Amino acid sequence: MKVLVAVKRVVDANVKVGVKSDGTGVDIANLKMSMNPFDEIAVEEAVRLREAGVASEVIAVSCGVAQAQETLRTALAIGADRAVLVESAAELQPLAVAKLLKALVDKERPSLVILGKQAIDDDSNQTGQMLAALAGLPQATFAAKIVVARGRATVAREVDGGTQTLSLQLPAVVTTDLRLNEPRYVTLPNIMKAKKKPLETLKPEELGVDVTSRLKTLKVSEPPKRSAGVKVADVKALVEKLKTEAKVL
Ligand code: AMP
Repeated sequence: MKVLVAVKRVVDANVKVGVKSDGTGVDIANLKMSMNPFDEIAVEEAVRLREAGVASEVIAVSCGVAQAQETLRTALAIGADRAVLVESAAELQPLAVAKLLKALVDKERPSLVILGKQAIDDDSNQTGQMLAALAGLPQATFAAKIVVARGRATVAREVDGGTQTLSLQLPAVVTTDLRLNEPRYVTLPNIMKAKKKPLETLKPEELGVDVTSRLKTLKVSEPPKRSAGVKVADVKALVEKLKTEAKVL
């Protein structure tokens, strides 16, 4: 059974980003880039399935600029068997990525596609759902546990106030939530081994996909600055301020 895992190159989760002065977007020039954290969880889960003998091959896929090769090398170091970069300098919105992944699903015929629940740069939480719709596959989002057996995936999903368990017929699309697993650290020997693993590069045109943006960003702005607080002399003053100044937002 093949598992396809989607990994996105995003600004590292520990880096503080700022808005460009012209308000057209977030300034990511010269910032540390890493694999989207939910995608690390996705790769880890796929590799665990292969290590358990459930999956036979793990293919990592990234769509974006040439530097996304580094992200794919990380996926290979975690344990993916091979990688595919769909290279494009265009800004790829979730629908474009979902179409590219759908084309790869048609080409590779994986039994399971694992994505992150969301990319921490755009916070869209759309790509997995769109892929499932385009490919006509069952989906389980926000997975906290995945068990694959007898042609089905049993997925425990994080939902408000609890866990929902779904049984999906394979092939299926699953998106990861934080509690699914704790990704391993990549070791130096595995980083070295990853350099020799196959990494194929394709262009969107080769997959017959038009990646033109369907959405136009009108403006990106910083959240309003919080104004400084005041110290009150005593509880009486605090109660007074709560009565007269505090507002329900
Ligand atoms: P989003 O819908 O943008 O929040 O992204 C959800 C998930 O889709 C991510 O966690 C990735 O697994 C996948 N994804 C989004 N964009 C890309 C991309 N450019 N390349 C590969 N996978 C992506």
